[in-house]
Amino acid sequence: MIEFKDVSLVYPNGTQGLKNINLNIKEGEFVVIVGLSGAGKSTLIRSVNRMVTPTGGELLVDQENILPYKNRKLRELRTKVGMIFQNYNLVKRSTVMKNVIAGRLGHTGTLKSILNLYSKEDMSLAYQSLQRVNISDKVHSRADQLSGGQQQRVSIARVLTQQPKVILADEPVASLDPPTSHQVMTYLRKVNKEDNITTIVNLHFIDMAMEYADRIIGMRAGEVVFDGPASTVNEST
Ligand code: ADP
Ligand code: ADP
Repeated sequence: MIEFKDVSLVYPNGTQGLKNINLNIKEGEFVVIVGLSGAGKSTLIRSVNRMVTPTGGELLVDQENILPYKNRKLRELRTKVGMIFQNYNLVKRSTVMKNVIAGRLGHTGTLKSILNLYSKEDMSLAYQSLQRVNISDKVHSRADQLSGGQQQRVSIARVLTQQPKVILADEPVASLDPPTSHQVMTYLRKVNKEDNITTIVNLHFIDMAMEYADRIIGMRAGEVVFDGPASTVNEST
């Protein structure tokens, strides 16, 4: 599904974010990337939806090199590859429903969303997505009235309405307490299994990675230094 072929990324200031990354991530895999701050986890994840652009190598999504993508191809890529952030990135003053439906229509602020031109189909998909992460009772609430864990569930629902093939989650639980973190990871794992969505998650904590991942990738200084099934991590790290 996702193939890194000798991918490197040098930032404009000369920092090498990624060094010769070679990885093959299969459809439906749940991959957790671990490593210290600055290891390149975020750069790796953000390459897959082209929030950052590698400067060398090839990065294939569905067998197509995405590095030359522009405009329409980039928009298509970002529909196929959904993203979840540490700080939820919801429109705070908007309702949960409006936030989630934005996953389907593009950003709030488009003409369609301003005029509330939601089709029945868009609305029911948004509502079903909220049900899947158990937060449909908050459909009328303003996003900023929800707890962190609830907001992250809404952001999972938003990504689900775009019916992605891949979900990227950049430190999705870094702002949450341990029980809430487990809840969010459980929902990510659930939708990964149910819809066979290829999922890549960055985490700080190895114990949580071992609990949820099919496969763990360890990074240090822009390089992959470990890659294996979660069950084999103990000895080698
Ligand atoms: P992680 O997610 O593991 O904390 P990052 O991918 O954010 O690591 O960062 C990898 C390296 O790239 C670090 O040295 C970081 O300082 C650097 N870096 C990240 N973003 C930029 C940027 N926009 N410009 C320059 N250097 C950056
Ligand atoms: P408003 O335009 O009144 O602010 P929103 O666009 O925020 O409304 O919300 C859309 C509405 O869709 C909400 O009132 C939500 O409760 C409602 N809704 C409830 N059930 C469903 C469903 N199954 N499918 C679609 N929408 C639903």
